[in-house]
Amino acid sequence: RRYDVVVIGGGFGGATAAKYLRKFEPKLSVALIEQNRVFHTCPFSNLVIGGLRPLNAIAHNYLALSKRWGIDVIHQRAGRLNPSARTVRLADGPEIGFEKAIVSPGVDFDFQAIEGYGRPAMRTMPHAWKAGPQTRELRDQLREMEDGGLVIIAPPMDPFRCPPGPYERASMIAHYLKTRKPRSKILILDPKTTFSKEALFKQAWERLYPGMIEHLNAADDGRVVRVDPDRLEVETAFGARYRGAVVNIIPPQFAGVIAGNAGLANEDGWCPVNPVTFESRMARDIHIIGDAAIAGAMPKSGFSANSQGKIAALNVAAALTGRDPVAGSFANTCYSILAPDYGISVAKVYRTTDDGIVGVEGSGGLSPMDADAGFRAAEAHYAQGWYEAVTADMFT
Ligand code: FAD
Repeated sequence: RRYDVVVIGGGFGGATAAKYLRKFEPKLSVALIEQNRVFHTCPFSNLVIGGLRPLNAIAHNYLALSKRWGIDVIHQRAGRLNPSARTVRLADGPEIGFEKAIVSPGVDFDFQAIEGYGRPAMRTMPHAWKAGPQTRELRDQLREMEDGGLVIIAPPMDPFRCPPGPYERASMIAHYLKTRKPRSKILILDPKTTFSKEALFKQAWERLYPGMIEHLNAADDGRVVRVDPDRLEVETAFGARYRGAVVNIIPPQFAGVIAGNAGLANEDGWCPVNPVTFESRMARDIHIIGDAAIAGAMPKSGFSANSQGKIAALNVAAALTGRDPVAGSFANTCYSILAPDYGISVAKVYRTTDDGIVGVEGSGGLSPMDADAGFRAAEAHYAQGWYEAVTADMFT
């Protein structure tokens, strides 16, 4: 069968784009190909790991997209995407045709980057960088760990999905350990020299979890180069070895494999796009959004993907109905929850210029340092509001 638009990937970018295509232009036929029947959001998955929420609190389904919005939701893995034939093959055989495709497959992992960290190691040293079974695995390992153990977290180099995510995770694990296993410690082995909202995180760690979290960066030999999953051991560039009770390795990432296989990614593994329409620079009529796309100054976040999904939908609908494209304005706020009543955020507005997507000067900002408890509690509350609003925007 042939559709006006096929959307591949039903996460933050794809679910939003599919819904807004039908909202902007109800006469377009739209299919959404998503391999999972239940989508677990990465946002708030750290709260599940920290014991603040059950796993089903971050689970969403596609019923409203199919019933209310009239999208053909196809729960299968998309195999070969052929941009010149404008077809995509489903895992169970049939081929689907389209006039245009919007591709939002998120990320996949570079299993070559860290010696010893292949697919089998994912079970013993979960990355939990896609939510669902991996989130449960990491949470359960923490629950089973004895008091006094060492939890190792190894974030990747930039660019990666959710720059503040590993540090929110460290905070949520610290919250869990402080309340349940207070003799335990956390070691973050980081290959970078700085990280998102660093001063705010470090101030919070001193206040909330004194002496519990140690952070080693690139200059402190923080880069993990080798792991031994059987011994739960990691080794750094200069040969230091650490053995954890729980080890969370977050490998380097690239655009979801379907994009690379279709020739849509550059040598670094990410997809160059036109910043107005999100059309691929490598193939006509294929639009790429979310983590997989190179979207100028915008970070790889769910908020960004949601924001891009609307502009891509608008411009794809425009192209199919003979209207001119519209340059977008985008927003992003990344909240991090560091304790039940302690939130921080970074926010920015973005717009498209001749230089691509750039941050608007004077917009957004960071939560202030030294804010009082009431301020931090309010931000934790706003984070909850954001989560409810964005998931309603995607799935209802
Ligand atoms: P995804 O949302 O991952 O969606 C991709 C979808 O495509 C998936 O459902 C996948 O199953 C599907 N798919 C892929 N390939 C195929 C295929 N071949 N066939 C069929 N289906 C396919 N962002 C925020 O804004 N705020 C936060 O607080 C936040 N917290 C985070 C915390 C953590 C721990 C992590 C890891 C991330 C967090 N993020 C947050 C980032 C956010 O999750 C991602 O940026 C966002 O999911 C990107 O959207 P996407 O559409 O590119 O990919």
